Amino acid sequence: MGRTSRIEGFYKLSMSERLKIVKEFGDLTSEEALALTGFGGLDPSIPDKMIENAVGSFALPLGIAVNFTINGRDYLIPMAVEEPSVVAAASNAAKMARDKGGFWTSSTPPVMIGQVQITGVKDPSRAKHLLLAKKDAVLELANKQDPMLIKLGGGARDLEVRVVQGQRGPMVVVHLLVDVRDAMGANAVNTMAEAVAPMLEDITGGQVRLRILSNLATHRLARAHAVWAKESIGGDEVVDGIIDAFLFADADPFRCATHNKGIMNGIDAIILATGNDTRAIEAGAHSYAARTGQYKPLTVFEKTPEGDLAGTIEIPMAVGLIGGATKVHPTARACIKLLGVKGASELGEVAAAVGLAQNFAALRALATVGIQKGHMKLHAKNIAASVGCPEELLDEVCEIMVSEKKIRMDRAQEIIEDLKNRKR
Ligand code: NAD
Repeated sequence: MGRTSRIEGFYKLSMSERLKIVKEFGDLTSEEALALTGFGGLDPSIPDKMIENAVGSFALPLGIAVNFTINGRDYLIPMAVEEPSVVAAASNAAKMARDKGGFWTSSTPPVMIGQVQITGVKDPSRAKHLLLAKKDAVLELANKQDPMLIKLGGGARDLEVRVVQGQRGPMVVVHLLVDVRDAMGANAVNTMAEAVAPMLEDITGGQVRLRILSNLATHRLARAHAVWAKESIGGDEVVDGIIDAFLFADADPFRCATHNKGIMNGIDAIILATGNDTRAIEAGAHSYAARTGQYKPLTVFEKTPEGDLAGTIEIPMAVGLIGGATKVHPTARACIKLLGVKGASELGEVAAAVGLAQNFAALRALATVGIQKGHMKLHAKNIAASVGCPEELLDEVCEIMVSEKKIRMDRAQEIIEDLKNRKR
């Protein structure tokens, strides 16, 4: 039994008290703990190495979700996010899941798809046959590009060939399936796709156009499952309310977009905190949700025979522990160390569990008191701060706005003026 992530009253502590707990939990050095605070921004030499035309760095709040148990192990989850309530909701959902053992996860091998588009092929069916017959030679050439990946047990594994109808006629699309181990894999796969292109042209007699990774990573899925005991979440009525909320998303794309957005609130926050590519994960998630032709929820909620609530998520998860910003960004490095994940698949599974927790929390709030209750306090803080509320009046202004249920800039300004006049 390792350390516990069940930390009562974490939210009531000061930032420095929380950091002390996190530092101990993750065995972080003082330098790593300092990196988590992000104070002072990135070392000036780093942004210029990461992107073009850099002028500085952009800070976001980093919060720590507590209470997560995943496959019997406790995790503290770093979340970089600008939206209030996300970290609290994830922590609360994870707390309620503990009664039934927390989250259980699995994933498929880290196989990404590299696409090569071939146009102008006279006989696409014959080309498909020829490509599959020469599969070994294509894979061998692909694998020559990345000796490091091969040494680590990864590499190009298989070839799929599709004939896709375009408006200017059929095109042959080759999928190179590559096991990218602990990388997100875009660079690795793109290099291979570009390298095999001339060979594919020779085999098919067509013209290669695009050679690029697909973010619809259907071979690289992460899954998470949890059961929430009905007594822990408010009883039968709440279980039924959450199932009805899920069924609404299942039947209606307008609701489903927001259902899946709620999942991504949690997933993007951990993806960003670990220096991974949020756009890749978003693109993968939404295209996977629409893979049947109808946009569907990424989670499923059902009632167990005992009347408890069972939740499941399945989502493409192209995350890496090497490459991209994961090794270059000091805060991302410290976040990965805090998570203590051994490989990219474990990170993907943790992210899936966070997405499921986040979705559960949103549906529970929607099915009961509504989402605004939890949002109000921090929302009020944001509104008050945005109209320049002095620090010493902040709590009072927020309290008044929340009690009046009038969380608006004009009201914040009035209250600030009022309080200032009274204190003069
Ligand atoms: P990368 O090229 O920096 O690292 C991958 C390489 O690291 C592998 O090819 C391998 O040679 C080596 N390696 C060392 N240890 C490894 C290990 N344990 N497991 C696997 N490989 C190991 O990074 P990448 O993951 O190929 O590319 C990720 C970057 O590509 C991200 O920054 C992403 O934003 C960007 N990108 C994304 C897209 C897209 O999503 N469509 C397109 C282009 C680029």
